[in-house]
This record gives sequence, structure tokens and C-alpha cells, in this order.
Amino acid sequence: TKAKETRAFEADVSRLLHMMVHSVYSDKDVFLRELISNAADACEKLRFEAVSRPELLADDPKPRITVSADPDNKEITVEDNGIGMSRDDMAEALGTIARSGTRAFVERVGVGGTTEDTQFIGQFGVGFYSAFMVAERVDVISRLAGSEEAWRWSSDGKGSYEIAPAPLEAAPRRGTRVVLHLMDDAVPCTGSYRLEQLAKSQSGHVPVPITLVEKPGAEARDIADGTALWVRPKSEIKPEEYTDFYRSVAGQYDEPAATIHFRAEGRQEYSVLAFVPGSRPFDLFDQDRKGRMKLYVRRVFITDDADLLPRYLRFVRGLVDSADLPLNVSREMIQESPLLASIRKGLTNRVLGDLAKLAENEAEAFAKIWENFGVVLKEGLYEDYERREQLLQLARFHSTTSGEGWRGLAGYVAAMKEGQKAIFFMAGDDRARLEASPQLEGFRARGIEVLLLTDPVDSFWVTMAPHFEDKPFKSITQGAAELADIPLLDVAKKPDTAATPEIDGFLAFVKSTLGDAVSDVKASDRLTESAVCLVAPEHGHDRQFERLLNAAGR
Ligand code: ADP
Ligand code: MG
Repeated sequence: TKAKETRAFEADVSRLLHMMVHSVYSDKDVFLRELISNAADACEKLRFEAVSRPELLADDPKPRITVSADPDNKEITVEDNGIGMSRDDMAEALGTIARSGTRAFVERVGVGGTTEDTQFIGQFGVGFYSAFMVAERVDVISRLAGSEEAWRWSSDGKGSYEIAPAPLEAAPRRGTRVVLHLMDDAVPCTGSYRLEQLAKSQSGHVPVPITLVEKPGAEARDIADGTALWVRPKSEIKPEEYTDFYRSVAGQYDEPAATIHFRAEGRQEYSVLAFVPGSRPFDLFDQDRKGRMKLYVRRVFITDDADLLPRYLRFVRGLVDSADLPLNVSREMIQESPLLASIRKGLTNRVLGDLAKLAENEAEAFAKIWENFGVVLKEGLYEDYERREQLLQLARFHSTTSGEGWRGLAGYVAAMKEGQKAIFFMAGDDRARLEASPQLEGFRARGIEVLLLTDPVDSFWVTMAPHFEDKPFKSITQGAAELADIPLLDVAKKPDTAATPEIDGFLAFVKSTLGDAVSDVKASDRLTESAVCLVAPEHGHDRQFERLLNAAGR
């Protein structure tokens, strides 16, 4: 009953394919990286399955990826002996928008996107579909490990695909063969030099060996030995190699902003190779806010779902390779393992430590990281009590005196005025609006710096009454201004706040006029020019936090 059939892609996919193929996007070469990375993933999935079912490896235990060219027939083939795909796998994985990056892309540009939007493609991993940037037809012939059937998936990328049984003798014994029938302008890709360069530079460090067959009948040549980059000594690794590896592990197309590579020894042995991306990954604000670090055990890929870092470090991409975790436990049990908890702790400390070093030694590079990921890091200020001080040390803010630059709290504290006891801040949505606020007058008149907190997340951590170097944070829109002890820059402008019958009478008048709308009316040092301003009570919520709660319907 399972015979040949033709099915339509989801509408989104055909639209996406059209846009990619007709795009001005210049870097079509990424197709090879995407196909090799799928082949490597398939080999790693098999390696993992084979831990409990060794018979899957049969007499072919070594993972392998073969790239072959056939210039005369305008073909490139990428074949692996990995896990393979069943018929249903194929329909599911290749016929729908399997990859979240692809979905994110469609969401961003919309189904009716134009070719101008295609420049965004460079920001997303486009996965398997990138094959259609160079091929007018793609055939995928696959045999699932342990299965007696093989299937052939075929499409011209124009809206439908076809799945049919494939004769076993024409299929890989195990794994997947992807055959690209190239468009004319992509035929130069079959040049052996070009192909080798592409494969080596983009994928030379995937943990599976790659061989190249230059033309039909030629001998297979090893072009990458499958030595995982992270097990090599740091001193031998070139920056380009790190960048290539970063791109394949993070699905990013830019340069990493920081590279963290180390080996922990002692009670626990593990290697870490992780990166801070140079720009925001598309999935940074996904609902589940999961970490994106892969877990390996002795070079066998186990899972990318192991919570190796706290959520506020979810922008860090890379892997941990443990020498101590058992291979043959379920992914669920690994989650519970105390070994994992200790790796998590060590890794978190190391990442924060490296960021702190960067902040100290390369302020500009750190500022760039903060610009991209500060909002995420600040979630740690209320989620990770133990490391709050460390995170406050890293935090950067805009302030009334920082101009376009960033202000760290150490710098703020060093510049505090005589008599100033608190770190003053004002929270709101918009920096310009905050800066125009009358509440700042009294602070300006005394030369006091006020932090301007404009991220929604700010209102959450400041309500937890944090201190930095024993200085409390204090909202300038809440309670008494505590300015009386701090001298004015221009003493002549000191407002007369001494109680007089006139002032008392005026306060009583305002109070009776406003009635229940306010809880109190007071004279204050806060203003120098304006007559009045609204202030929240000393205890209770800051005004911005109140607005956020109201907006959330609470
Ligand atoms: P991603 O790799 O991010 O999942 P892709 O678009 O690259 O997205 O691939 C989609 C899916 O197709 C993969 O998740 C996998 O299930 C399947 N697939 C692609 N290539 C292979 C292959 N060589 N072997 C086995 N499965 C594959
Ligand atoms: Mg992929």
C-alpha cells in the first residue's frame, strides 16, 4: 500500500524555496555545510542509538561522510552511513518546515515576503532547503539503520515532492545519500579544488571523517579526519577554525564575540568549547528559553537538551564533552545526575569569569556583548541569587551622565557625591522621556548620576532590593528623595523648604482638592524648576513596576 505518491509542501515552504532560489543572497556555498552537518548529525544519532543496540552498526562501525562530484552529469552527492530515514521520517523531516530556523525565517518575513527580505536568510540557518539554492532537483535516497526498506525522496523545490520505494541495491546499505542535480550556474561547484576548499573550510571540524571523490571512478581521498576540534590543544587552533566550528555548532553566520575553550581536570573531567555569538540568535526569546549547549560523552553526542547553563546564559552556544558521565543511561537520567550539576556549576562560573575578564581588559568588545545580551543576563539578577553580586559587577547601564556609552556600577559608586548613600535609578520605557522628567531636577542640581533603566526586566530585579558594594538601589520616583545631605552644585539655588504657614496652607489645599487620588502631599528637595511631580510611596512598588503589573492585568 505504501507506493509512490506525490505530495505538496506546506505553503510556507514553497514560498520560502522560491525566495531563496531567486534571492540576491550571494553565499550559496552554505548548502554544503548544511548537508554535511545533517550527515554528521545522522552519524552521531546512530552512534548514540548503537550504545544500546550495537547490532545497528553491523559490519560498518566507523562513521563516514563522502562528498562526490560528477561534473559531466552536473551532480554533487553527499552520503553518510548514519541513522538514515524511514519513509515517514522523510515526509516529516524534508516535507515540512522541520527546522526552527526556517520557521523563524518565515515568521519574520511573512509568507508574502519579497526578495528584499532574502537578505535576512544570512541570519538564519536554512538547513536542508539550502540545497535548492544550487540544485534544480534533489534526490534523497535513504535506508534507516536496521530496516529492510529504502526510500527515495525527490523534488524540484517548486511546491511538491515525491516519495517512492527504492531498490535496495541502489540505496546506501545504511544511511542517506543526497544527490544534487545542479543548476547550470552552480556547476563550477563541482570543481574538485573548490569542493575540497568548501568542505574543509566550512566543515573540517565536524566529528566525523569526510572523504572526497573528485569524479566517478576516482579514488576516495580523506579531506578531514573527524578529529573533534575541542580535543585539540588550544595553541594549535587557528581563529578561522574556531569561527567555522562556531558557525556549524551555533547555526550562526557571523563571527563569535567570545570563544571559551578549556578542559576541566581533577574530580571531574570535561572539555568545553563554547561561544558568545556576535549577534542575537533568532531563538533568543523563544518561549521555553532553553539553553543551547550540546552534551557529549567521550565524543558521543548525547543531547542538546541538558540544561548545561542557566537560562540567563542561553545565548552561549557550544558543547560540553564529559569523560565521566555514563554513556548508556537515558537522556532523562542524565538530567538528574549530580555529575551534570557539578559541570553546570563549573561551566557557569567559567563563563561569567571569562565575561568579567573581557569587561576588564576589552571594554569595547564587552560592551558589544552587553548590547546584544545584557537584557538576557539581567534575568540572572533575580533568578540567580548566589551570583547576583557577580552579575551586578558585569551589568552596564545608561545614565544621566553616560551619554551614548555604558556605565558600570563600580564606576557609578566611585563617582558618588559626598553624602550620597544610594545608587539612584529611574525606570521607564523610553530614555528620552525619562531624561525629560521633572523628578531628575534635584539630582541634576546636585550633580548626582541617575541610572536610566529602560528594559522591562529592570523593574523585576530592582524590586528585589539589591545592594552593590553595600549601597542600596533606590528609585527616584519613590519615597523621600534623600537629597537633603547632599550639597547643591550652585548653593544660591537652594529652594526654601522650611515649613511656613504659606507652604502648610498650600499643602493642605492640594490634599483636600485631590482627596483620595493621592496618599500624601509633601514639600521636597526633588524639584528645582517644576512645581509638582508624582512619587510612589516609600514602601510598595516603584511607578514603572506598577505600570508593568497593570499592563499584565494584575
Ligand atoms: P536540522 O538539521 O536543523 O534539523 P535540516 O533542514 O537541516 O534541519 O534537516 C531537517 C531534518 O531532516 C533533520 O532534522 C533530519 O531529521 C532530517 N535529515 C536531513 N538530512 C539527513 C541525513 N543525512 N540523515 C538523516 N536525517 C536527515
Ligand atoms: Mg541541518
